[in-house]
Amino acid sequence: PPAPAPKAPHWQQTLDELAKPKEQRKVMIAQIAPAVRVAIAETMGLNPGDVTVGQMVTGLRMLGFDYVFDTLFGADLTIMEEGTELRHRLQDHLEQHPNKEEPLPMFTSCCPGWVAMVEKSNPELIPYLSSCKSPQMMLGAVIKNYFAAEAGAKPEDICNVSVMPCVRKQGEADREWFNTTGAGGANVDHVMTTAELGKIFVERGIKLNDLQESPFDNPVGEGSGGGVLFGTTGGVMEAALRTVYEVVTQKPLDRIVFEDVRGLEGIKESTLHLTPGPTSPFKAFAGADGTGITLNIAVANGLGNAKKLIKQLAAGESKYDFIEVMACPGGCIGGGGQPRSADKQILQKRQAAMYDLDERAVIRRSHENPLIGALYEKFLGEPNGHKAHELLHTHYVAGGVPDEK
Ligand code: SF4
Repeated sequence: PPAPAPKAPHWQQTLDELAKPKEQRKVMIAQIAPAVRVAIAETMGLNPGDVTVGQMVTGLRMLGFDYVFDTLFGADLTIMEEGTELRHRLQDHLEQHPNKEEPLPMFTSCCPGWVAMVEKSNPELIPYLSSCKSPQMMLGAVIKNYFAAEAGAKPEDICNVSVMPCVRKQGEADREWFNTTGAGGANVDHVMTTAELGKIFVERGIKLNDLQESPFDNPVGEGSGGGVLFGTTGGVMEAALRTVYEVVTQKPLDRIVFEDVRGLEGIKESTLHLTPGPTSPFKAFAGADGTGITLNIAVANGLGNAKKLIKQLAAGESKYDFIEVMACPGGCIGGGGQPRSADKQILQKRQAAMYDLDERAVIRRSHENPLIGALYEKFLGEPNGHKAHELLHTHYVAGGVPDEK
């Protein structure tokens, strides 16, 4: 039999669905990843950050999307889950019954480039990877399992589209076991890159920087400044430290910015002292002398730097408890789906735009996002609880998935 015709690229499939008469098409939902918002302006010859995310939301509505959500919400959810997972792993170690399925250091797992490297080249590290799905997949699961019901739609009648800086996020969305609904469909249906979406706007004559701003939809659509930082190297770590510190110590942070993990260096490291608060359930964090414990962390900017940290770990010389790895230079701001730039300073400019967005955010800590609190209360239960595990966590496979992009 003749080979089946190759499927159209995902941006094209998205436009095809949007072009159908409203009564015949699915409910169209878009989510915008952190790093996209600082780079989309470059697709129209402007500087990083010249188009606001509110203008992007308006542009997506003009293309026909019914709802537009912010992947920052998924990032805040990731921090709640990953921060809790880290505290459990630490507690097991401090109480001297470490679980061999959950050893330390814990590595972040939100970058599919890094996950693919572990699965293919270092499968012995799989137990060290956080079981948390990435923000895109967490938000995808929440949209299909929670928002669908809120909006009175069946999950299979929703077409969930992500706008990502990354050429590997479609592969992540296509992993069957990353999808949760019994609805027989993907949690994220299509992924478009920043460059692809920018081209669509240009071709349609939609000048984003001339548009009025619009707000995201809710109740699962907005995130914190910590969530924004996911778009650049060190950002997942900074967001996690803000939350882990305050949840464990039950005290506000004096300084919310963690300079040690900022910037574009290859390997960044820092320490954070944690003394549990008076009613903290994490008693083990008080340590033997009651003065608390010191968390040692590292950030690898690019896979070459991750390899150096893996070597240390294999030699038994790693002192870290928690390690962030992002595959692309600078993290997602330098992702393969971002517009190409001849400007040698482009990563610095995009990174500065991300820090600026965090600085201007009203809520800067993931655990203070009231929408996140409401989702746990109404639907998810506890972080790392049964439902959260079912929807927001996953596992990885030695050898990886063949042909995954
Ligand atoms: Fe994708 Fe690169 Fe970001 Fe990893 S760092 S999620 S590969 S864009």
